Amino acid sequence: MKRFENKVVVVTGASRGIGQAICVAFALQGAKVVGVARSGLNETSAKCDGSEFIPMHTDLGAGTQKVAADLIAEVVKQAGQIDVLVNNAGIIRRAPAVDFSEKDWDEVLRTNLSTPFFLCQASAKWWITQGRDKSAPGSRLKIVNIASLLSFQGGITVPAYAASKHGIAGITKSLSNEWAKERININAIAPGYIATENTRALREDAKRNQAILDRIPENRWGNPEDIAGGCVFLASADSDYLNGAVINIDGGWLGR
Ligand code: NDP
Repeated sequence: MKRFENKVVVVTGASRGIGQAICVAFALQGAKVVGVARSGLNETSAKCDGSEFIPMHTDLGAGTQKVAADLIAEVVKQAGQIDVLVNNAGIIRRAPAVDFSEKDWDEVLRTNLSTPFFLCQASAKWWITQGRDKSAPGSRLKIVNIASLLSFQGGITVPAYAASKHGIAGITKSLSNEWAKERININAIAPGYIATENTRALREDAKRNQAILDRIPENRWGNPEDIAGGCVFLASADSDYLNGAVINIDGGWLGR
């Protein structure tokens, strides 16, 4: 039996990069995957071949409680339940702090922090009021937030991103204190430098690229699949006694 058969896994930012790899990893384990993004989800759907994939085209950039609540209600309507929520969708804006615009600040904070918080809230509310009683005895709601090395470090010219990812680490701990007793595990993964669209500018800057590689003990950029494996662990029963943790998957970067 595959580990996530009869489980519904919701992944935001499912159209490419880390989110796509997370969808595929859960599909391989038999999950019904709900993938959320603004743009096309056909590629992810095709890669999840063999497992049911439900695409949901939703803009998570407003950062409102209503968008999150509506999305969770739609997931329950279409998929019947939620067993795992992965808050992965995220954006980055780069500019010197003195020039950083209000628009960029708001977009980053809304997408990377407000929306994940309200999705945690809506899914936990559903679980506590309805889902828990209908689910199999002993089962749990698992929430995985995708944080960053910039949950611990400041970065350069990315103040909104650093603030949002410090915030993700904060709400992961805060919500775990309230929800562990409800049979909800909420934890986070802090990926290191992963080769995706999000980091293309860094990889194309030869000097920055080399400086980054020089600091990574594994001496390579991470792959989206490196993060997906940790995500499956945090969504599985193997992590039932893990709450409010932020786990680095970074090739050793933070240890230096
Ligand atoms: P990508 O830019 O490759 O993918 C981002 C995903 O988020 C896309 O699927 C995109 O879909 C979705 N997304 C962005 N904005 C919105 C929105 N308003 N509404 C709905 N979906 C949205 O990024 P990565 O895969 O690299 O990053 C994934 C997560 O991992 C992010 O939270 C990022 O901060 C984090 N991370 C990444 C690291 C890296 O090195 N790559 C390092 C540390 C953390 P679409 O545009 O189709 O809507």
